[in-house]
Order: sequence, then structure tokens, then C-alpha cells
Amino acid sequence: MTTSVLDPRKDPMGKAIADYTKNGVAGRLRVFSSMFDEDEIPVAELFRDKDEMPEIERLALDTACGHILDVGAGSGCHTLALQEAGKEVCAIDISPLSVKAMECRGVKDVRLINFFDPALNGNFDTILMLMNGSGIVGRTERFPEFFRRVDELLAPEGQLLMDSSDLIYLYEDENGVADIDIAGDYYGEVDFTMQYKNITGDTFDWLYIDFDSLSFHAEENGFHAERLSQGIHYDYLARLTRK
Ligand code: SAH
Repeated sequence: MTTSVLDPRKDPMGKAIADYTKNGVAGRLRVFSSMFDEDEIPVAELFRDKDEMPEIERLALDTACGHILDVGAGSGCHTLALQEAGKEVCAIDISPLSVKAMECRGVKDVRLINFFDPALNGNFDTILMLMNGSGIVGRTERFPEFFRRVDELLAPEGQLLMDSSDLIYLYEDENGVADIDIAGDYYGEVDFTMQYKNITGDTFDWLYIDFDSLSFHAEENGFHAERLSQGIHYDYLARLTRK
């Protein structure tokens, strides 16, 4: 698992966030994957206010308490909403351009650091990972390392709030029967490459996970998962606490 941060020359999303912060508009942030058709992330959506957020994100913000760590904070949309609600929050991201944008946007405590970098320490009451926050785990075999890190960073009664989606719908036929190879890789392991203007990022792994599998991996690694809410499209918000 890499513990580094991004090179600004290979940070398409950070550049899109920087442009939007500066000019209020940005170009097309394109997303390529071997699993999906070519897609785009509407850059304005990375700047959503609390009232524009999906219900599971609003619930996560309302449930976040104490000293909060917003992991992969992006434009800082969740961090800013928490700050406005008077909560204490530290934002981290591996994108130098996004970190600079967050500073410009008024995020008080923001750090350029990788979640897996041991130099990041703390005793957080809430760790927040949103917009398919499970993505950061990358692949299911990395759950032990991931939960070790969560354990290092969480206060004794702390909670991890994470959203994800079950990609099973991609494999279902018209009768709702899924055709998956259970001996193969887990079906939610996706590779992404992003492109913005003339900047192409490195390909990275991003994990989507169904709640039952998340729960299984949590139990294997000393945690317990609870589903706080179910979204409208196979998505959900989970709270993970130590067993
Ligand atoms: N949470 C934001 C942004 C989601 S995009 C939102 O909901 O709008 C995912 C973000 O995670 C990107 O900004 C990316 O740079 C960051 N990221 C990816 N891997 C990371 C890691 N290992 N540590 C910290 N940040 C990471």
C-alpha cells in the first residue's frame, strides 16, 4: 500500500478542484475504467453544500462527533459543513492541489498526507470517509492493513463512518440473477484512471463493497459494522466500531 502523495502533474481531480475554486467553472473530469463505460465527474458536485448532498452523507455529517478526521476530503465540502456546524475537524488528502484549494476555501485544519502514512497520528472520535469512502481500501486483501490503521487513529470509543455501494447490479440479468465468478476477484474491485485537460493520472484501485462483505472483513479484523442507512441505488452508510 502506497503511503505517498500525488505529483501535481499527475493529479487531474486536484487540478479540476483548483480551477473550480479559482474560477467557479472547470472543464470535463473524465473517468476511465475497465469495468464501466467512459464517464465524467461533474466538478460542481465536488463542491456540494449540505442541502445538495445525498441523504446518507447528511446523516454521516449529523452522526460525526468529537474530533473528526475527514479522509480524502477533496474540495473540503464535508469538512466545511462540519466546521459551519461548530464541529472540530481535520481534513487530509493526498492531492496537493486539493489541499491548497481547501486552504483557500477556509478549511482551518488541513494536511497533505496519505491515510496510510504512519506519520499521521491522532486520537479521533470519528473517521469520515465519503463518496464511496471504502474506495481507499483499494482491494479486499488490504482490509487487515486498513483496519490496523483505523485502530491506530481511533479514540477508544471512536467510530468510522463510511459509505459504499454494492456493484452486484452490474452483474444482474433482467430477472435479478447475478452472474459472478465466486472463485475470481471480488466483484467490487475497480481500476480507475482520470483525465482533466492535458493531465492524466496514474491508474488506481478503488473498492466498492456490499454491506455483508464489509461486515465480514470488519469482524475478521476486530471491528463491528452497522448499517445506518440505505441509499436509493445499492448504496449505504456504515458505522464501524471496535468489537
Ligand atoms: N470526500 C470528497 C472527495 C472524494 S474523491 C467528496 O466526497 O467530495 C476521493 C479523494 O480521496 C480524492 O481527493 C483523493 O485525492 C483522496 N485520496 C485517495 N487516496 C487517499 C489516501 N490514501 N489518503 C488520503 N486521501 C486520499
